[in-house]
Amino acid sequence: MKIKKQFFILSSLIISIPILCSVFIIIHTYIHSPNRYLMKGSKQLNKLDSVSNSNLADIEKSLKMLPKNVQALLCRTTDRQIIYSTIPEIEVGKIMQREEINDFAMETSDQYFYQFTRIPSAGPDLFLVTRLSHEQINNEQKTKSSLKILLLIILITFISLILILFISKAIFDGLHKIEMTSSQLAAGKLDKPISLEHSPSKENEFSIITRSLEKMRCELLEMQASKNRFITGISHDLRTPVAVIKGYSEAIMDNVITDADEIKNSMDLIDKKATQLEEMIDTLLNFMKLNNTEIQEKLVKHSITRLIKDFAKYAEVTGKIFKRNVKTDIQLSKDIKIPLNNQLVQRSFENLLSNAIRYTKENDLIEVIAFFDERDSKKYIVMQIRDTGYGIDKKDLDYIFDIFYRGTNSRQEEGMGIGLAVVKSIMDTHGWKISVESQKKKGSCFTILIPCN
Ligand code: ADP
Repeated sequence: MKIKKQFFILSSLIISIPILCSVFIIIHTYIHSPNRYLMKGSKQLNKLDSVSNSNLADIEKSLKMLPKNVQALLCRTTDRQIIYSTIPEIEVGKIMQREEINDFAMETSDQYFYQFTRIPSAGPDLFLVTRLSHEQINNEQKTKSSLKILLLIILITFISLILILFISKAIFDGLHKIEMTSSQLAAGKLDKPISLEHSPSKENEFSIITRSLEKMRCELLEMQASKNRFITGISHDLRTPVAVIKGYSEAIMDNVITDADEIKNSMDLIDKKATQLEEMIDTLLNFMKLNNTEIQEKLVKHSITRLIKDFAKYAEVTGKIFKRNVKTDIQLSKDIKIPLNNQLVQRSFENLLSNAIRYTKENDLIEVIAFFDERDSKKYIVMQIRDTGYGIDKKDLDYIFDIFYRGTNSRQEEGMGIGLAVVKSIMDTHGWKISVESQKKKGSCFTILIPCN
């Protein structure tokens, strides 16, 4: 259950418990008020309704069933004779007028509560007076009410305690798990997967955080692997020209190369390799600049549809120059403007086209396609650059967007393994997605998803 919901239950309980208690006390006080108290014996009194005065034994039997602390007297309405009495001051057989009974009740009303009931019967009607002492009611009522309220409070406290324990346990378990997981991540232990809650009933804010932590762990792991590949790649690529420069300069210094022409050739080679090294460092620095959030902040609204259409025309011309069969199909009728960096987007499209040209043979087919699509109720422009060239080896597919990574098909082509890393970085800067599908010797298809809502 969501923590928000659990807190809602807890706060509802905190608000409703005093209200319920107050309602209970009000109802309880009303039911047990002195006026209603005598009515407790009303079941017995009602029985008297159907009894005739000739059957005094039955009436007496019913009156004896009244609660012990209730005193009663029964008076015949015709001759005003008292035919039954448990009130010590009034004896059986006494004749008492209605006014006399009223006066008697008035005089003792500071000690007793009185209730008057008329009992119709087959013979003359009967007049019943019942009474109960104040003291008894108050004491009895107080003890009973206090006992009930105490029991109720104990019950409510018990239920609330169980609920609080249950909710606190869920919160503390969640916090404990997050604490353990984050310290595991902080200690750099990324290889152990974080166990996730699968039951939807147990889904709450903590399981969402745990899932995000697991996602973060996977991303950190991937970043670590990518960093390792980057370092391996860069050290290998920088080492090669350095080795050549070092080898030739040592040969000159140790007088291994003495001929003036040979020295000149060696110096040319050293210069070429130093320039290559410089270019590599520049490319690297430029690539690092691409990962700058400043670019993200400087994106301006521009027509993406116009940009794609212009690129399609550029692709057709370039195809002719490099003798590739370039076909374009741009189905973007509506003009869409979105925030972008014109130059960077153009550069990424050109990198993809340049790869498509480099990894295909003469007259191979290259297609540039774009259309509107809706995925998960979000609108996108889908752009694809497909070719029917060498294709990419399955084992390379996961790494081709890494900087300095070159696929097994790239040996015969010049390159530094930086083009796709640049494309990926530009896509990330814009919040766009790029993916690749490829089959060796059949060709490749690079797909870009551009959100346009
Ligand atoms: P480079 O082409 O300089 O090696 P890239 O970053 O542009 O570097 O590409 C990385 C790798 O991806 C290439 O070495 C190549 O193996 C593969 N690749 C990229 N585009 C294509 C394509 N259109 N067809 C086949 N392989 C490709």
